[in-house]
Amino acid sequence: MMLNRAKQTLKDVFGYSSFRPLQEKVIASVLEGDDCLVLMPTGGGKSICFQVPALTIEGITVVVSPLIALMKDQVESLKQNGVNAEFLNSSISEEDQAYVVKRALAGDVKLLYVSPEKMNSESFYYTLLQLNVNLIAIDEAHCISSWGHDFRPDYKRLGYLKKQFPKIPIMALTATADPLTQKDILVQLKLARAKVFKDSFSRPNIYIEARPAYKRKEVILDFIQKRGEESGIIYCLSKKNTEDLSRYLRNNGVQSGFYHAGMNSDIRNRIQNDFINDRIKVVCATIAFGMGIDKSNVRWVIHHNLPKNIEGYYQEIGRSGRDGLPAHALLFYGQQDYGILESFNEESERKVILNARLERMLLFAQSNHCRRKLLLNYFGEWSVEDCGECDNCRGKQQLFDGTVMAQKALSAVARLQGKLPKELLPKVMAGHRSPEILAGRFHEIKTFGAGKDVSIADWELIVSQLINLGYLKIEYEQGTILALTPLSNKVLFEGEGVQLHHLHQKIKREKQVEIK
Ligand code: ADP
Ligand code: ZN
Repeated sequence: MMLNRAKQTLKDVFGYSSFRPLQEKVIASVLEGDDCLVLMPTGGGKSICFQVPALTIEGITVVVSPLIALMKDQVESLKQNGVNAEFLNSSISEEDQAYVVKRALAGDVKLLYVSPEKMNSESFYYTLLQLNVNLIAIDEAHCISSWGHDFRPDYKRLGYLKKQFPKIPIMALTATADPLTQKDILVQLKLARAKVFKDSFSRPNIYIEARPAYKRKEVILDFIQKRGEESGIIYCLSKKNTEDLSRYLRNNGVQSGFYHAGMNSDIRNRIQNDFINDRIKVVCATIAFGMGIDKSNVRWVIHHNLPKNIEGYYQEIGRSGRDGLPAHALLFYGQQDYGILESFNEESERKVILNARLERMLLFAQSNHCRRKLLLNYFGEWSVEDCGECDNCRGKQQLFDGTVMAQKALSAVARLQGKLPKELLPKVMAGHRSPEILAGRFHEIKTFGAGKDVSIADWELIVSQLINLGYLKIEYEQGTILALTPLSNKVLFEGEGVQLHHLHQKIKREKQVEIK
């Protein structure tokens, strides 16, 4: 019955005739009072998931949102639909904030957008105690996880909410979270019993391509010139990269600007507005640029440098093609970037995981396998279908039948489930009796040395590909221990074939990884 009321609200207020399938599930669950984690790609319709319940249930919904500009836009468009929405953040005066709070307390506000800073303040805590809150929605919830590059310390403190307000349902929403980040969001927010709703992360309208970092400037200029008035973003590793590249493009007649955290906020806002309003065609930016850029017709995203991890990469390419029309994501990768990024992780306590995520990024870039399949498997969607459309699917893939090798490796992991670190599987396969192998008694299993005919270096390449393809996964919480996935059984028991790409060709990178 509540759901019927929600459907009516969707029609009356937003003018849509029906919920999207996942929206309906999320909303039904919230109406039952459940906590939930909602994973939907950009443009999937996350806002409706909390806006409709806010208007259906008695009381007020508090929405935590990380960006002032975004909050303002959402509140304004809600007001245009006749909804009593307001926001509280540092952009408005104390008096105005007090007035909003007064109206909220009087029951005149249905949706209240709040910055995380405000949410963590003592004064707002007392306000929350007095408000009849029906739901707390935490948008861009991946900001709570220090894995992602959008980490915001103020999000981390939101963990107090569940404890202080156990009866209020909490909804966390994000468009980008790999399995590690998904777990982290639930742990940080202390949502032990949350229902998790996942839409496919697939964005079929984005053409995905990766190339070695060779003659990048020239290739980029040519790429842009071929695309007429289409606008796009070029992500660079350093502030200096953004400035140099933008200058080069301008000198060659491209309307380009640059954007990084070292610039003052007025200039940054100007660049952002110029881009949104098509006064400049290209922005060369660090990863500081993007969240909250509501521009639906970004036609392409280029990564001038290797990103730190696939999660960030996927979020960045997701800024293109939000209108659903074709978009192009071009990634450059090279040894040098890999080395630089690895050195950034040197000091971190979590170096092992950060490096593993970085290595996975490089593996993705260097792979000859279907890009979309690799990405979906990274996000835990376990897919074996080639998309038929990415650069690798369209190009010559040069694959060979590696089914028998894969079966041997997977059966070794099956025997040593929960014990075998990634580094040791190649040695197990090649039958190498190193001290760690002997100490772990890994030489006692039946498959020890089952792949003696292949070198350890080649086995390393095979294992990397099996992970990349989703036939094996790493349980990062326990170091680099290997585990089977839903796809492993298909190979072990259902006769599924595994195509691998040629060995030897990537030895150079593997050497570098070994030295670290
Ligand atoms: P997200 O926050 O997930 O990126 P939005 O909430 O901005 O997505 O929604 C994306 C677009 O889809 C918006 O234009 C929104 O109005 C539209 N939309 C959302 N839900 C529905 C629906 N049930 N029916 C039709 N359009 C919808
Ligand atoms: Zn493909």
